[in-house]
Amino acid sequence: MKIIADYHTHTTFSHGSGSIEDNVKAAISKGLKTIAISDHGPGHAFYGIKKSRYKEMREEIDRLNELYPDIQILLGLEANFMSVDGTIDVDDDMLEIADIIMCGYHFGSSPRKLLMDLKMHAYAILSKHSKGIYEKSKKLNTIMLINAMNRYDLTAITHPGAKGPIDVLAVAKVASEKNVALEVNAKHGHLTVEEIKIALQTDVKFILGSDAHDPENVGVFTESLNRCLEAGIPISRILNAEEAS
Ligand SMILES: [Zn+2]
Ligand SMILES: [Zn+2]
Repeated sequence: MKIIADYHTHTTFSHGSGSIEDNVKAAISKGLKTIAISDHGPGHAFYGIKKSRYKEMREEIDRLNELYPDIQILLGLEANFMSVDGTIDVDDDMLEIADIIMCGYHFGSSPRKLLMDLKMHAYAILSKHSKGIYEKSKKLNTIMLINAMNRYDLTAITHPGAKGPIDVLAVAKVASEKNVALEVNAKHGHLTVEEIKIALQTDVKFILGSDAHDPENVGVFTESLNRCLEAGIPISRILNAEEAS
């Protein structure tokens, strides 16, 4: 199996260390056919992009697509799940110029003023310490992901289950209906082998993402690929894989 695209890479527009062009050059050297620049959404208090700079990213990607015709470069975003009601941190201006929108749950996405959202973050942070809180956190996170998939046209959910527990089967069912892929992330441990096996009970598709925060890690999938192989995902279920020649 060969991975031909990396949809999950960060640059200095959020808290990566390389420029867009550095990531593109790295992707070309790894033989990828497609790379997406998916910096953190503007709703993250510490390392989100400045919304006003999203257009600048679009222009730079358009320029680089001309300059490097052998690779397809996409403007993506790793948006933040902001609220249990399914709100994510993209607006119509951003949606209009984006090629793909992925979304992940992160601590540090500024909670909205709803008590429910504050609870959601608190439960997620405390979920490792109490079985009762773990279950409450799982319920709220699952509702949040499903609401967002019903509201937005998402390409993928990044590292599902990292940072806060989810009901993988319930999420995978809706993701499959809505054509949202679940990411097997190289940097965080999720999806785990067990989670992949659960998701495989549905028709959901998967993607592998490097989550590279520096150019050297663009296109590096070793650890996540091992999880896919161990869980036995058929190549046809992975959006960015093809048969190795
Ligand atoms: Zn993330
Ligand atoms: Zn990321």
